[in-house]
Amino acid sequence: MELCFIELDFMEFHKLFLYVLLVSIAAILCTATFSFAGGGWGYDGQEGVTLPADWGHVSEFCNGKNQSPIDIVTADAKKVDAIKIDFTYNAASGKVEYVNNGHSVTITPKDVRSIKIPDNFSLVQFHFHTLSEHTVDGKHYDMEMHLVHADEAYLAGKPDGKLAVLGVFINEGAENGTLKKIFNDLPKAGHGDHVEKKGSEITANFDKLLPAGTRKVYSYQGSLTTPGCNEIVSWFVFDQPITMSKEQIDAYRSLFVNESTKKSYHTNRPTQPLNGRTVSYGTLTGENK
Ligand SMILES: [Zn+2]
Repeated sequence: MELCFIELDFMEFHKLFLYVLLVSIAAILCTATFSFAGGGWGYDGQEGVTLPADWGHVSEFCNGKNQSPIDIVTADAKKVDAIKIDFTYNAASGKVEYVNNGHSVTITPKDVRSIKIPDNFSLVQFHFHTLSEHTVDGKHYDMEMHLVHADEAYLAGKPDGKLAVLGVFINEGAENGTLKKIFNDLPKAGHGDHVEKKGSEITANFDKLLPAGTRKVYSYQGSLTTPGCNEIVSWFVFDQPITMSKEQIDAYRSLFVNESTKKSYHTNRPTQPLNGRTVSYGTLTGENK
């Protein structure tokens, strides 16, 4: 059947418009990261790059007072009754596109997923760090996944745009079936490279990327954990990890190797001072569609 533009009803047009916006913004996020690569910023264990302690030279925001990640001190977290987020994550399947930008592998869903807290934030991409970036009482997990959501002002390129990021810890354990296809076929890239792969398909719903059972999250105001380090992020870090197999974690680690020592390096920014910020802790409530 031929689908002609004039046949799109308003909702379909709205969805199409939002999709074009999401793809554009994902491209901008990836390019923003990419533009600093190639002798640009990098992680401890790499050579010839600006290391995390000096990222303030890459972007002055990295020297800000409300930076991420942080060490979450559980005894200091403010207990709250509930943290309400409505999800539209469930769907039978969804195609994704993924990019290795030399710092991480970012994955962009092709259909619209969003969270409401209470403003609406659309999922623009998710990606991974090894080790975890956040720590809990000083302890790292093996990896951390970041699901990055943007509000309408951000998508429209306005200066008051905000992001909401869900952080999910990953520990070695059972194989992760939801991420299996992606981790079977991770794109390799040297530092400063930008390798794209299109059309991989996630056959389970995105809700399965999150920890199962009763969900509790730590929430605080912080920043992007890579340059430009913009302090525009509401963070929601789940207290329970998901698992990936040793093979899956090793497959990811093998993408980020120091070219002269041949050793893999970690892709986490060290934790940043809290500087008096409050970390809330509560049960995640809200609808899940
Ligand atoms: Zn991240």
